[in-house]
Amino acid sequence: MAQLNFKSELTGCFAQPCAENPSVAMVEAAYQHHNLDWRYINCEISPENLGDAVKGARAMGWAGFNCSLPHKVAVMDHLDGIGESASIIGAVNCTVRRDGKLIGENTDGKGFLDSLKELIDPAGKKIVMFGAGGAARAIGVEVALAGAAKVTIVNRSTRRGEELAQRLTDKTPVAAEFVALDGEFDVPADTDVVINSTSIGLFPDVQGKVPVNMDTVTSSMLVADVIPNPPQTRLLKEAKAKGCTTIDGLGMLVNQGVIGIKYWTGIDVDASIMRAKLESIFGAG
Ligand code: NDP
Repeated sequence: MAQLNFKSELTGCFAQPCAENPSVAMVEAAYQHHNLDWRYINCEISPENLGDAVKGARAMGWAGFNCSLPHKVAVMDHLDGIGESASIIGAVNCTVRRDGKLIGENTDGKGFLDSLKELIDPAGKKIVMFGAGGAARAIGVEVALAGAAKVTIVNRSTRRGEELAQRLTDKTPVAAEFVALDGEFDVPADTDVVINSTSIGLFPDVQGKVPVNMDTVTSSMLVADVIPNPPQTRLLKEAKAKGCTTIDGLGMLVNQGVIGIKYWTGIDVDASIMRAKLESIFGAG
């Protein structure tokens, strides 16, 4: 993503994968809808070229860029500063040029939080979160900073789960605990929000089962999934059948895009345009 200055003396020419990139399509749809003369382009960067790529973005006057795995941690060494939550999360997925400096932010968790806040205020809520990878770290930090009372991290790998619980305890006010996965997890009855932030259920593993005992999930709980493809995961379908309100992974993906565009252009774009573009790619459910 970038603001490309077509008056510059260098015109890029590079081979790009032909398949439609959903993030590019989503952001470009917003630019077109709002008549923004901006471009969001996808460049494949190898780890050894990351430093040069960031220097190039600076030199070309890019307003910022998103970065995906495996660059989310390594990119921090090449930036001029890191935002508060990105610094606690320990990963950057979005950079923005501010006063000539390239600052690293993390919009994954913020995107999820915006989806959540459309339905409930996380302040004071008890949250059960499956997973302790990058998405879980970002979500855990943001719900903690938003005032959640308790986050229970349920994960397969003890090392990652304990590290995340410790990170939340050390760096945010939330009460965090780790529970190692052992069969299906029984959700405590006083839980307000259940989140799948593992990669279980991502296409093509659409029948993948999040290890939750659905008998312990009740209609008063809000159930969220980070998986964008398919939007209606097995978990969300089962939760809906129990009468739960649900949030799909498209909301998080759209909202992190809305936040990124606001950072780069200063403009609030219409999230529904972006969601419609993603639904045309992934299906609505
Ligand atoms: P990571 O690889 O960092 O973490 C994956 C997590 O899933 C780990 O906690 C891992 O457990 C757990 N996991 C994977 N397979 C299993 C399994 N079979 N059983 C139990 N646990 C399992 O990935 P990310 O955190 O970066 O991404 C996770 C998902 O979030 C992806 O599917 C991605 O598409 C989605 N995502 C969605 C976004 C959106 O905008 N909607 C944004 C970012 C990510 P363990 O630690 O034991 O390995």
